[in-house]
Amino acid sequence: MQKSVHFSWELGGPGWATCRIWDGSSKHQDSVSYCTNALADLLKGVAGLYGPHGVQRFSFDLEPAEARWILRRRNSDVRIAIRRFPDRSTSFDAPDGKGVLVWTSTRPRTLLAHAVLMAAEKVRQTHGEDGYLQKWQLHAFPTAELEALRHLHLAADDCALQH
Ligand SMILES: [Zn+2]
Repeated sequence: MQKSVHFSWELGGPGWATCRIWDGSSKHQDSVSYCTNALADLLKGVAGLYGPHGVQRFSFDLEPAEARWILRRRNSDVRIAIRRFPDRSTSFDAPDGKGVLVWTSTRPRTLLAHAVLMAAEKVRQTHGEDGYLQKWQLHAFPTAELEALRHLHLAADDCALQH
């Protein structure tokens, strides 16, 4: 079976982004709000997969729901689980098991990192850093987080895809 990961992050109306992930067999999509620095959190979470901690967690605010991403590294693979909680204002410290598992997939770290990196670069190419801030309003484009992930991916993964 061929493994793939497709990921996109598209800015919509002011303060909203559409996040899509597809592993070749099932898709998931969320509308993410600017209440958190969501794109930065995503890039930091994926970059964390190159460090000593086997599990990375971050949450998107769907106003009011919480979409919590839990990334567990197993050797060269990552198990991605997205859990949904109805109200982020009360669920931020709830255990993972209280959320509904809405999407899961296990894919190589290199493919996940590559897909997230390319999606963030596309956002910057499409809007520029000034345009990003105009749309996302509460947070600047996460340039440092993007460059950190690029460095880790290029240094640690033997990625044969185009950059
Ligand atoms: Zn790559």
